[in-house]
Amino acid sequence: MNEQGALYLLKFGELTLKGGNRETFVRVLMGNLAAMLRGTGASITRTEGRLYVNCSVEKQAVCEDVFSRLAGISGWARARGSEKTVEALMGAAVDEARVCYDGGAHSFKVEARRTDKSFPLNSYQICCMAGDRIAGAIPGFKVDVHSPEATVNIEVRERAYIYGAERRGLRGLPVGVSGRGMLLLSGGIDSPVAGYLMALRGMRIFAVYFHAYPYTPDEARQKVVRLAEIVGLYGMGVKLSVVSFTKVEQRIKERAPPEWSTVLLRMAMMDCASTLAVGKRCKCLITGESLGQVASQTIENMTCAESRARLPVLRPLIGLDKESIIRQAVKIGTYETSILPYQDCCTIFSPPHPVIHAPLHEAAALYDSLDLPSLLRTAGGFQMQG
Ligand code: ATP
Ligand code: MG
Repeated sequence: MNEQGALYLLKFGELTLKGGNRETFVRVLMGNLAAMLRGTGASITRTEGRLYVNCSVEKQAVCEDVFSRLAGISGWARARGSEKTVEALMGAAVDEARVCYDGGAHSFKVEARRTDKSFPLNSYQICCMAGDRIAGAIPGFKVDVHSPEATVNIEVRERAYIYGAERRGLRGLPVGVSGRGMLLLSGGIDSPVAGYLMALRGMRIFAVYFHAYPYTPDEARQKVVRLAEIVGLYGMGVKLSVVSFTKVEQRIKERAPPEWSTVLLRMAMMDCASTLAVGKRCKCLITGESLGQVASQTIENMTCAESRARLPVLRPLIGLDKESIIRQAVKIGTYETSILPYQDCCTIFSPPHPVIHAPLHEAAALYDSLDLPSLLRTAGGFQMQG
């Protein structure tokens, strides 16, 4: 392994639990990492239970940003490599401890793991000796095995690695191990978070936005394009299709009572998204709905919408309140874009007194009377991009 530059250690999270699938998951994870690091010149090495990344000092910040966006790792740390001799190991442990101490920690403990059983000290002996050496070398840095402010980790594997502060990874599963999902992406706060959560469950996200130009301005579309890009930062890229729904919305307005327009529009979206999803080999639809959040998100209205879906509909936010969804949106960086003031079609078309507990048989009859299939069948023709 190249000794120049920076060395990082990455830990798989849930992957260790997955028995027979593990090999596939690690392969996908490595492929994703390699793709995200493309152009940085960084190299990736895999050993039992760990990935190591070597990069130049100039590319450190770029690589750290990648680790913070990589689904499937439980944690990562800047590490130092060491020769597998007791002296080299102890010297590196003291160096690492000094970094922790200089960073403001007052107490520490040492944790050691040894997979190479030929190393002359066992884990316990490594801990004791390193603890003594560190305490001796840095007066004022106290051992505290119960609640230390810093942990010096020592791993003796095919070679030895020492690291202090470990950063938390995104966890979840590597993107791609759970198949494809079609996200109904509006310009709002919720659906980008829904897409992110499913990406973290290993799903490769495709997205569709139903655009009603000129009722909704082009800025609304640009906003969704940007949201898809941000979700794509975690999801190995998100392919967005923009479908013109202007004619569909006009048809609903012409033929149905205004209080039904939102329910019918949702049914049409599910219908159209299903066609698109099947074409892209997606196995499910994903929405940003949360039970009771707005009038259209009652169980009855969702039932009506879902009745026109031809794939399972996943709603990862269904039990979350707005506050926690917003917190997630802020964390992943979609919030600022989501709250830009351009309205999506649904806001413009939403009637003053929408049906809140739509009976399915009525919804079905009204939907069928709209005679949408011919309009939706040509939805491919409406597809503006993606
Ligand atoms: P969001 O914040 O995601 O817009 P919302 O709380 O505004 O959600 P609704 O407007 O009722 O809720 O939309 C419910 C869900 O329907 C959205 O989360 C999204 O998945 C989907 N959806 C709504 N409008 C569109 C659209 N124009 N294009 C694609 N999907 C849409
Ligand atoms: Mg919305």
